[in-house]
Amino acid sequence: VTGSTGRDRLDIGIDIGGTKIRAVALDGGGAVVGSVRAPTTTGAAALVAAAESTVREVVVEAGGTVRDIGVVGAGIAGLVDAGAGTVTHAVNLGLGEEPFALGPRLGDRLGLPVHVENDVNAAALGAAQVLSASSVLPPDLAYVSIGTGLAAGLVLDGRLRRGSRGVAGEIGHIPIDPNGPRCECGRRGCLEVLASGSAIARRWPVDGQRSPVAELLAAAARGHEGAVAIRDEVMGHLADAIVMLALAVDPKIFVLGGGVAEVGEPLLLAVRSGLRQRASASPMLRSLDLSSRVTLIPPAPIGAIGAALAAHPEAGGEVELEAGA
Ligand SMILES: [Zn+2]
Repeated sequence: VTGSTGRDRLDIGIDIGGTKIRAVALDGGGAVVGSVRAPTTTGAAALVAAAESTVREVVVEAGGTVRDIGVVGAGIAGLVDAGAGTVTHAVNLGLGEEPFALGPRLGDRLGLPVHVENDVNAAALGAAQVLSASSVLPPDLAYVSIGTGLAAGLVLDGRLRRGSRGVAGEIGHIPIDPNGPRCECGRRGCLEVLASGSAIARRWPVDGQRSPVAELLAAAARGHEGAVAIRDEVMGHLADAIVMLALAVDPKIFVLGGGVAEVGEPLLLAVRSGLRQRASASPMLRSLDLSSRVTLIPPAPIGAIGAALAAHPEAGGEVELEAGA
């Protein structure tokens, strides 16, 4: 497909996070041909303006103009109504309690329709695209985002599974400890209050800009008894999250992402160790070989890439990725 200036169509994806907005431009073959980062601003008007400028900047960086844009997709945390282009519960962005019409408002400023997708679903699609680039089989994975919250995105047999009410993969609110801390969903002991980045920061507080999970895992590796206990408990909960996903939908692989996964290999090793420990007590779990099916996110802006993929009109709300795309 070529745009009005005769060049390849550009698909734009933006990932609106709590601290930064990342935008990418994809060419007709799905390759990243432009990438821009900007700080997030809070409040509705400022956020829409910031999102608009990242879209305009990334198009220029890709050597095109707004007329070359094929689709625009935006990924954002919160409960998304993809049909209406609205998001609710995007609490850390200062958007208030009412559904916020991100798609229509950004679309008005750009003169183009804007598809809105839950950020974890978008990242799952982006991870599927990047990881399946060399495969002949359709991607089949659970993307587990461990950050401020805890949630999974599911790409099953090459299709994003949003669910009938849009909550497929919201495993952070599976209660696992009836006596655990209160969760913002109203229940107690949800996975999210026991094993998210916020939970780790609460249990292993650190100064300033250091990463709580990095400090926790380093202290545990040095043999600090308190750190070993907290690490084994938290990583055990994450291992249980993988087990639940395996037993519910049995994807081929499990991809760890989100802020906590930025620590990299030490997280992967700790989750694998939790899975092996669980398998040692269960021949059934052992046969699933879960520890070798867990991996880290690829080094790519998967949230923004996936937001662009989710916006394809031919997907009709259900996104199908081609093998080897
Ligand atoms: Zn909850």
